[in-house]
Amino acid sequence: MSFSVSILATGSELLDGRVLDTNSNFVAKELAQLGLKLKRILVVDDDMPELLDGLRSLSAVSELVITSGGLGPTSDDLTRDLIARFFKVGLTEFPEARSHLENFYRARGRALDPSNLKQAILPVGSTMIHNERGTAPGFLMTGPGGGTHQVTTCSLSGVPREFTNMFIQSVLPLIKSRAGATTVIKRSSFRTFGLPESIVGRRIEECALPSTISVSYRAAFPEVHVVLKAPEGIDLEGPSQQVRAALNRGAIYAERPDQTLIETVHTALRASSATVATAESCTGGLMAYQLTELPGSSDVFMGSVVAYDNRIKHGVLHVSQDTLSQHGAVSAAAVREMAQSVRSLMGTTYGVAISGIAGPGGGSTEKPVGTVYVGLSGPKRSFEVGFTFVSDRKMVRTYAAHAALDLLRRELNGLEIPDTYPLSGGTLAPKA
Ligand code: ATP
Ligand code: MG
Repeated sequence: MSFSVSILATGSELLDGRVLDTNSNFVAKELAQLGLKLKRILVVDDDMPELLDGLRSLSAVSELVITSGGLGPTSDDLTRDLIARFFKVGLTEFPEARSHLENFYRARGRALDPSNLKQAILPVGSTMIHNERGTAPGFLMTGPGGGTHQVTTCSLSGVPREFTNMFIQSVLPLIKSRAGATTVIKRSSFRTFGLPESIVGRRIEECALPSTISVSYRAAFPEVHVVLKAPEGIDLEGPSQQVRAALNRGAIYAERPDQTLIETVHTALRASSATVATAESCTGGLMAYQLTELPGSSDVFMGSVVAYDNRIKHGVLHVSQDTLSQHGAVSAAAVREMAQSVRSLMGTTYGVAISGIAGPGGGSTEKPVGTVYVGLSGPKRSFEVGFTFVSDRKMVRTYAAHAALDLLRRELNGLEIPDTYPLSGGTLAPKA
């Protein structure tokens, strides 16, 4: 059996919807890096019978159980008692835990409340885990797991920044040494935009990859991410090349697992010493907001005009009254003029404009809710793309800003603008 690890996440707030259990997710991701998968994740209330029951069931199937939370000084913090009861040992004050608490408070000029001393009391026979970001030390304990095997419990603070730090520093090394020679898993990541998940899936299926390669998909609206995995010793480059060829046509914007579309756009703007300005209607500045998410944005992003009302489109961006009355504010003609105008107003290399009907009101048969036009004006050429993305207001706006960023990326990287673009759940709108 491979080394099995489970998590017991404790806290009423995780069960009544106040707090999302991010600690378990963090551990799952860290283990995945080692080619390991969590055996079980169990979330239980701050209640001794529930906690004991949960710990027993996890111990029966795991060699390591990580507990999260319940190390504080209050009466609902039961983890120390839980571990002592489970292993049938007593509790005792640990001098190193006490001096950690005293130092922690002294360093912050605060008086140590006597109730905090409860945090220095740990199960007899346990090993303290240092918590450099908080007061409550954690601890490790090994003993009979209820079945035939020994189980190790490892109790960490529930506060995410403390939990993650304690996990990396003290638990991960233990898992690495205990898991021994686990298979190293190689992975290739592809982050895509512009193709619906069904089409991404179909194209990859058509690659007929060897069965030693596992493929996983994640719809991270409005993007689709694909990961190929292979055990060490199995060729991953060949299959990755096949996926690149099948998906390409510009759909892959990054192959680093954590690279965002904004980062790709920034990199492309810097590489060609180009700048951009936006003129936005239905997105209300969302594209500008995203372009300024990264530090150093001012090198590539100059500014934006949020031209929501037609008076502003005409008065500030000089969209002609003819265009507005003949084609409307949501039209290829309008975004063409908006993009050109913001580009010259701000003296940038590129101008990008977005105008659409985010809904829920304002749609018509000819231009239903979700109709969006994006215009790009640049040194080589100018073009407009229109599409209808049928969804709610928030998703239409998110999709529109993303599509505009992606069009800019394609233009900067010399990629074609396919006529099926952007078709994720949308259809191409007529030109005018
Ligand atoms: P403290 O010493 O601060 O009391 P603790 O170990 O007792 O720490 P909890 O009281 O259970 O931990 O939780 C502390 C904070 O961390 C709370 O704000 C809680 O909502 C949050 N938290 C607890 N468990 C998780 C979890 N699994 N994922 C994300 N947040 C969590
Ligand atoms: Mg607590």
